Amino acid sequence: MIVRQFLLSFCLLIALLAPAQAADWTTPAEAAHFKTTPSYTDTRAYLEKLAAAAPDRLKLTRFGVSPEGRDLMLVVAASGGEFTPEAARASGKEIVFVQAGIHAGEIEGKDAGLMLLRDLTVGKKFPHALDHAILIYLPIFNVDGHENSNPYLRINQNGPAEMGFRATAQNLNLNRDYIKADAPEMQAWLALWNAWLPDFLVDIHTTDGADYRYDLTWYTEDWGPLDAAVKAWQDTALKRRIFAATESRGHLLSPYLELKDHRDISKGIENFGSGQRFSTGYAALQNRAALLVETHMLKPYEVRVRVTYDLVAAILDDIRTHPSELRRAVEAADRNTIARAAQPDATLPILFAAGDKSVPLTLKGFAFTQTKSDISGDIWTQYDPSKPKDYTIPNWRDLVVRESATVPAAYLVPAGWPQVIAKLKQHGLRVETTTQPLTLAVQRYQIDDPHWASTPFEGHLMLRQFAAKTGTVTLTFPPGSAIVRMDQRAANVAVNLLEPDAPDSLLRWGTFNAIFEQKEGADARVLEKLARDMLAQDISLKAEFEQRLRNDAGFAADPRARLEFFYRRSPWYAKQNIGAYPVVKLDATALAMARAAP
Ligand SMILES: [Zn+2]
Repeated sequence: MIVRQFLLSFCLLIALLAPAQAADWTTPAEAAHFKTTPSYTDTRAYLEKLAAAAPDRLKLTRFGVSPEGRDLMLVVAASGGEFTPEAARASGKEIVFVQAGIHAGEIEGKDAGLMLLRDLTVGKKFPHALDHAILIYLPIFNVDGHENSNPYLRINQNGPAEMGFRATAQNLNLNRDYIKADAPEMQAWLALWNAWLPDFLVDIHTTDGADYRYDLTWYTEDWGPLDAAVKAWQDTALKRRIFAATESRGHLLSPYLELKDHRDISKGIENFGSGQRFSTGYAALQNRAALLVETHMLKPYEVRVRVTYDLVAAILDDIRTHPSELRRAVEAADRNTIARAAQPDATLPILFAAGDKSVPLTLKGFAFTQTKSDISGDIWTQYDPSKPKDYTIPNWRDLVVRESATVPAAYLVPAGWPQVIAKLKQHGLRVETTTQPLTLAVQRYQIDDPHWASTPFEGHLMLRQFAAKTGTVTLTFPPGSAIVRMDQRAANVAVNLLEPDAPDSLLRWGTFNAIFEQKEGADARVLEKLARDMLAQDISLKAEFEQRLRNDAGFAADPRARLEFFYRRSPWYAKQNIGAYPVVKLDATALAMARAAP
């Protein structure tokens, strides 16, 4: 009896202890068999517990606060306890930055990250993975969107049961905000980026679109601004070794599948050319490697989490076996950018267009049918996942340069535009502030014929079209103006912020809208006299005016337009500098004069 009671108690004790021990480091998504994903609070609780259990290899910190007051969490995993940017740089190890949940409904990066951080620490699965790499891991970038969670936010996607929202509390898409950096979350991210200056950014999403057999598609920025040294690392390390290693763990990977025709996958894919406002495009401007990960939305959530886990594990393993390769590439890129400033008339491509040549791509897809839809009136495409089918399709992969900007020795931002100077500093650009009035011959853009979009994009009515021409003028700039030299590693960010034609220039985002406004007008009474004086002095003006009266009935019938004809041609109008772009370009001579000023 006593023995039986003892045995019963013993068994009860084992029953109580054993599941508790086994479940200890099971992540919330694993515990839910990947049917659900944990809340912000539960994610944080798991990371706090893990960091407390592995204080020598893991630190949970924060890099900012969201508009709704949530900490923006950051985890640093470092085998030598290099938990600060300074210690990380001093270690010489490569810094890999993995971020999840920039679109909060696309959240496999968070759950893969919890599993991987466990296996890098208490799980002891990869004892040497951090020998040459430091992992900085952002579990949920869009934290407010993550908590705005319900089952109805991503109709295209196969789980988890509830998911967060694409946009922030301010309804901004963080993956369009890298250059303009309106969102407090993005401003905090830029400070984090500048402090750590990671070698490699991995940005994890879930795709939309067609059905096919790949569980992960990817995109890298291979166009102009990405330095050749970094591109070479992406081509060899990432696209050959790391992707192959990921596939060897039982996955299928493909370049991002942007269909030319969403109704017919066999028509081919094209390069969507993400650009500077996206994570990959922005990292390219900063001379850093970057990878956009898009897990396939129709695969079960567990498959999407596991492929993400295996890919990040493969990245760390590749750095372990090829230490310093990536660091040498980004350092070469920084040197190349700095050296370019010494070349007069150096250019940087800023606008791209699809090339006209394609390469064949074997696409591992499914058979599909096309039927005429009585709902849409268009073709209704339905995939049959029971029938795998390979297609050889054209891949319009290449982008060609449509426009390049001449890179000056420096830009000068007049003191009157402190918000522009602040934006440059936010991007980690070094500026020199002038201390006395400076008179310099500079290149200035005149922007005419502006047209704005009629609906907002990311909170802005963008300047869609304009005519920019450049000329040399001599101007005096007040003290407090900022000189942004181009012999610095982040110079390409400045060019993309300040060149009017760049697709994400501050001009296009509307920062300089006020320069197009006429602030002083003229009374009809004074214009009557001005017109008579001008006509008396200029015979050709008289002819032009009379021709306009004859040929333009609307003009002839509009008294104000007839008077404005003269006002617009007078110094009274010209001195308002309407459309004169305030940021100017300095050549080496002007820069030397500015810097020689006492
Ligand atoms: Zn996304």
